[in-house]
Amino acid sequence: MSDCLFCKIAAGDIPCNKVFEDDDFIAFHDINPKAPVHVLVIPKQHLASLNDANDQDIGLLGSLMDSTRKIAKALGVDDPGYRVIINVGKGGGQEVFHIHVHILGGKTLPF
Ligand code: 5GP
Ligand code: ZN
Repeated sequence: MSDCLFCKIAAGDIPCNKVFEDDDFIAFHDINPKAPVHVLVIPKQHLASLNDANDQDIGLLGSLMDSTRKIAKALGVDDPGYRVIINVGKGGGQEVFHIHVHILGGKTLPF
């Protein structure tokens, strides 16, 4: 997707503060952090939102969660814990329409 911000970040065309990368995923610090640790995990493959996923994306979604778990551990937020957020659609607060997981941690988070 040539006009997608996170596709451009995944391709290295827009810089980011990267914390993890493998063949399928990249994770980087959110530009406007809402917690001491606020990292976004994205698939390199464009998928606009969870609403747009289908049965063919089940593997991708599972791997996205597994990568999120490993990245959170590498960031050191696994103990005492962290929050994972996926905003879905405009009503869910999604601003960038390339699916991403927010990892929020580094402090005790309010409800
Ligand atoms: P959403 O609201 O779509 O779930 O989350 C999008 C997130 O992307 C926001 O938390 C926002 O701060 C972050 N963001 C938007 N543009 C950029 C950017 O260019 N670089 C980085 N690192 N984060 C961005
Ligand atoms: Zn994209």
